Amino acid sequence: MGKSAGLKGLKRVETLVQAQVTHPQGRTRRDFLHEMFGTLGMVTFGFGFTTLFMMPVIEAKKNSEVKQKMAYLYDDIFLTHDAGMGHPESPGRLIAINNAVKEADWYKNITLLDSKPVDIDTLSLVHDRGYIETAKRECEAGYWCLSTGDTNVCKESYRVALHAVGGVLAAVDAVFTKKIKHAFCAVRPPGHHASGNRGMGFCIFNNIALAACYAQKKYNVQRVLIADWDVHHGNGTQNIFYSDDTVFFMSTHQYPFYPGTGAFHETGAGKGKGFTMNRPFGACAGNNEIIAAFKDEFLPAAKAFKPDFTLISAGFDSRIHDPIGGFRMDDEGFRELTKIMLEISHIAGDGRLVSILEGGYNLAGLAAAVLAHMDEMQKN
Ligand SMILES: [Zn+2]
Repeated sequence: MGKSAGLKGLKRVETLVQAQVTHPQGRTRRDFLHEMFGTLGMVTFGFGFTTLFMMPVIEAKKNSEVKQKMAYLYDDIFLTHDAGMGHPESPGRLIAINNAVKEADWYKNITLLDSKPVDIDTLSLVHDRGYIETAKRECEAGYWCLSTGDTNVCKESYRVALHAVGGVLAAVDAVFTKKIKHAFCAVRPPGHHASGNRGMGFCIFNNIALAACYAQKKYNVQRVLIADWDVHHGNGTQNIFYSDDTVFFMSTHQYPFYPGTGAFHETGAGKGKGFTMNRPFGACAGNNEIIAAFKDEFLPAAKAFKPDFTLISAGFDSRIHDPIGGFRMDDEGFRELTKIMLEISHIAGDGRLVSILEGGYNLAGLAAAVLAHMDEMQKN
């Protein structure tokens, strides 16, 4: 962990320094000085040049850190959760994402976050202590699947799941301490199928529900909006907030499909009635249907709700050619959804937006969709 963080920190410094001393045309300050004064002049007046030219560089570095809009959470520890040979929720997903993100021209301008394990008291904001103990015991005992549902695990999975939640909460901290405005969290295992007392559907702990509850507890947030564009319904998230009028859950998903929930008429219960919004679509739905739901229904509902904080369950298994999902979204479609979510985040939340990876199992497609999503976030 330390090594991973250190290497990333070093890389960050290298890219930052490179960015500061290189002109847009690719010519360095040294090239410029050499052409103007020759080698001897540079040596003779080296100290003066250093003082004259490096001070603006140092100043620019300070400014660039203030201007950063987006953070990216990734940690090598997420690769150690192994759901078994041939399982679609594989470490390769994050390798594909991370390799693509590191090549993006804006990579040098974003803040890199590391994960840390969430503490059990915070985890119990959402999950029963009995379930937390079951997940710990079964993972560490070498179970291949949690007894609560269809979540394949290995001995490392419990520890990795704690880091996934802790990493997401670090992103929430970064947003609320105004270090950045938006964050994308490339985590696994995913979370939106996990309810308070049950892991299922590749999920152990509900990362996004914990982000919402943590923000409410630590930063006194009144209203949180969660939008879920994964091809599967986020049944765990819906279940956790079904009777809650402080967290608005809205989802587009394939239906009927796994996990079987998410019908149009599921709109919440008790004081939470009206704070759950499901827009189910048949297989083969794509940009037209999903973007229309976000633009024509979710956006007006969000304007009425006025969220202080906005979260995305960013599942990219709704993209065309996903081996599990039947939707046909493309990268431009995810870009449009991102724009709408950014607009929602500015209604009353000053742009505070944290996006958390859920599904997405076509490795090349997943990486391309994440790039489009992050590209839109980093420039807004
Ligand atoms: Zn999914």
